[in-house]
Amino acid sequence: MTEKVEKSWECEYCRARFKNKQEAIVHEKQHGQPSSFVHDESDYQCQKKYPESIIVKMNDGAEILYRQEKNLEDSSWIGR
Ligand SMILES: [Zn+2]
Repeated sequence: MTEKVEKSWECEYCRARFKNKQEAIVHEKQHGQPSSFVHDESDYQCQKKYPESIIVKMNDGAEILYRQEKNLEDSSWIGR
């Protein structure tokens, strides 16, 4: 038996695998990348150190709202 190692390309963002390099390139380019934060629309609450949500501007101009899910450095975090 011979081991068949098939060449494949992996998306750097979501780890999807492609046998066709061109397909992989097209796929990878469809992922938007954060380019800057829109601070003035961040949602701060007075008891909380960090914003509840932030709007992130992507490299294609889209603005996406992200909500805080968890402070990874705070082990007492119990969720909501
Ligand atoms: Zn991907």
